[in-house]
Amino acid sequence: MTDAIETEVAILGAGPVGATLAAALAARGVPCVILDAQPLPPMELQGFDGRAYAIALASQRLLAEAGVWERLPTTPCPIQEIKVADGRVGEAPSALDLDFRAAEVAEEPFGWMVEARALRVALNARLPELPGVRVFAPMTAEVARDEAGATLTLRDGTRIRARLAVGAEGRNSPLRQAAGIGTARHDYGQIGLVGAFAHERPHRNRALELFLPAGPFAQLPLTDIAEFGESRLPHASAFVWTESRGVAQRLLAMEHAAFARELRRRLGDWLGEIEPIGRRWSYPLTAMHATRYVAPRMALVGDAAHGMHPIAGQGLNIGFRDVAALARLVGEAHAAGGDVGAPALLRAYQAERRPDALLMIGATHALERLFGNDIGLLRLARRLGIAAVDRIGPLKRAFARQAMGLHAAG
Ligand SMILES: Cc1cc2nc3c(=O)[nH]c(=O)nc-3n(C[C@H](O)[C@H](O)[C@H](O)COP(=O)(O)OP(=O)(O)OC[C@H]3O[C@@H](n4cnc5c(N)ncnc54)[C@H](O)[C@@H]3O)c2cc1C
Repeated sequence: MTDAIETEVAILGAGPVGATLAAALAARGVPCVILDAQPLPPMELQGFDGRAYAIALASQRLLAEAGVWERLPTTPCPIQEIKVADGRVGEAPSALDLDFRAAEVAEEPFGWMVEARALRVALNARLPELPGVRVFAPMTAEVARDEAGATLTLRDGTRIRARLAVGAEGRNSPLRQAAGIGTARHDYGQIGLVGAFAHERPHRNRALELFLPAGPFAQLPLTDIAEFGESRLPHASAFVWTESRGVAQRLLAMEHAAFARELRRRLGDWLGEIEPIGRRWSYPLTAMHATRYVAPRMALVGDAAHGMHPIAGQGLNIGFRDVAALARLVGEAHAAGGDVGAPALLRAYQAERRPDALLMIGATHALERLFGNDIGLLRLARRLGIAAVDRIGPLKRAFARQAMGLHAAG
């Protein structure tokens, strides 16, 4: 048997959360190993695929500190204004709306729209240059844990010994399952449609969250089309749109022109002519929460620990908050010459992160319940509620700061 590679932290999964954790640990001088079941594709930027993340201010700070933000190959689009309104297909959004302006809360934007492929490219470019980080991909591992640490046996026979194993393999985390950690789940019975479109008039960095009877519909501003080179129309936005399974199947199968008409029936005319770009994606919508985030010598981060309705675009941002907390605790322990997988550290991580994620799962769930129906009285109540929040400055600012992730980042 060959000697094991000794490291402090072994991260399973190099998705956006796992890879950012490796970069954040490297920035604090903590040696780690990261592996992913998929190859981590080379640096060139493939064609625009239609997916983008809303990255909150606190997440942007984390990515900047980890040296990832400056490597994004396309320009992130700042979100300066968010308009929330109730609506119906084919009707203009209710005038009783809620208008958030970033300038009213902080000097910086609410967040940025970042193409999913750009974040992936920046992380994949960053990983091999991180000091103290070893990358294995495509690779899987068996993990055995004991009192002093975790031993990973890779598919090629390589053995790795770490004080802490981190599960960042997404929703179906094998590390979580092997540890016997249960999950609470809720199936919304709906499909999330995700994609992008070019449009004639500028979005003025405004995002629109529209509550339609079938579920929420969001338009999110993207950088101008010159960076995509895919349409004669100059501007671009992303959409996240929830529908029942049957309607979603029909929308996915539509020709571009018919799909553009459906988009415009929801958005109204404020963006002018519309042309879909990139692919259309669909995801079944479920919420999931792990009953524990830690077990001896292991911790869960990102979608391995929690998943939520995309109504508020917070899934990845909550994962980045896990990264910030774990990197800080592990970094401090390492700097003090302590044990980065000690039970007290893991308890502190769970105590900090689990209630925060639960709050966001609950909030997105409540929003979905409140806005996901078309009962007349409830519609009036939410229209009045939206208008009331718009007029109560401190409440509105509290909502906005929560969305920016600022309550956690300070
Ligand atoms: C419709 C929709 C829209 C969304 N929009 C937003 C948004 O606007 N903003 C936002 O913040 N979030 C959004 N989210 C949520 C976001 O996509 C997820 O929270 C995020 O992708 C989670 O990242 P992750 O790294 O934890 O997991 P994943 O992205 O699932 O990555 C897991 C990684 O682990 C690897 N892996 C899997 N199994 C193994 C194994 N056995 N061994 C090793 N590696 C393994 C995979 O190859 C992958 O690279 C949205 C989600 C949906 C469904």
